[in-house]
Amino acid sequence: MVNVTVCVRFRPLSLSEKRLHGDSICIQALNTQSFTFKDEKEEDITFCFDRVFYQDSEQVDVYDFLAMPIIEGAVNAINGTIIAYGQTGAGKTYSMEGLGVLDGDRNKKGLLPRIVDGIFEFLQSLVEMTKWTVKLSMVEIYMDKIRDLFDLSKDNIQIKENKCQGIFLLGATEIPITNSTEALQCLCHGIANRAVGETQMNLASSRSHCVYIFSVQQESRTNGRLKTGKIVLVDLAGSEKADRTGAGGIVLEEAKSINKSLSALGNVINALTAGKVNHIPYRDSKLTRILQDALGGNSRTALLCCCSPSPSNVSESLSTLRFGARAK
Ligand code: ADP
Ligand code: MG
Repeated sequence: MVNVTVCVRFRPLSLSEKRLHGDSICIQALNTQSFTFKDEKEEDITFCFDRVFYQDSEQVDVYDFLAMPIIEGAVNAINGTIIAYGQTGAGKTYSMEGLGVLDGDRNKKGLLPRIVDGIFEFLQSLVEMTKWTVKLSMVEIYMDKIRDLFDLSKDNIQIKENKCQGIFLLGATEIPITNSTEALQCLCHGIANRAVGETQMNLASSRSHCVYIFSVQQESRTNGRLKTGKIVLVDLAGSEKADRTGAGGIVLEEAKSINKSLSALGNVINALTAGKVNHIPYRDSKLTRILQDALGGNSRTALLCCCSPSPSNVSESLSTLRFGARAK
């Protein structure tokens, strides 16, 4: 049976939420794993997860709990995935990237820059035993089409599979990185490109999935044996219902596409945690297909469900918590 680590993170109240409801919140902490949640009918529901990060949690807390085991796995050739789920504005990108990937307040740095440091620290400690190569790819999935964030001209990347590489993105740019600084510069480049592409296409980042893939290859200095581990991070499109973003036309098509891929993800995770080995519906969306060999099988998966603690967002938070609860 596949184990998915499911965590919840509540961000602090925003100014607009405070203006509407003052300091009131719809959760009450019980301990580091459970809390009660007041729904729209003012009824209390108790939720229990592997770990709950409350409003005062620090970026480093999330890193230590979620990312450390995944980095450790990757240098031992065990693939790992960290997925951030939740409505727009719930704290997905804050958790993944944080504020200022390259510079700025150290405490505000998210999982990505910390993972970069973590990977190179681990590899440095193995330098006498192995020669290593780390590569980074960054793609965006929008309306079930994959775009290379290191080369915007590649806007319809295909997913392929072979014995040697497992699942891979045909022709996607893979940038070799040799240290943290280089990695952070690449990440910033990809993030900036994402913004450029969005302006060109009049697209909001909340409506596409962003996928970061680190591949860590090691060659043993004694017998030349190769081993590769992948770390995949996914900053998902906002999970909110279409009527809240409020529109028809293209936005409705986008909402359908997001909905389809998020339910495909839920179905894959549920099939895995239910102990199914055959018929895992990876092929139902590009998102789940990319994640196929980093989700299930011999891999480590963590889901971070991001929520607002405000009564203004009760129904979206509840839907996020239910998604997380089903993944257990
Ligand atoms: P999402 O990516 O889910 O749409 P963001 O990560 O952009 O949401 O967060 C929305 C806003 O809330 C941003 O201004 C972000 O800086 C802030 N925020 C989110 N999570 C936290 C947190 N844990 N601590 C402080 N500010 C946060
Ligand atoms: Mg975001």
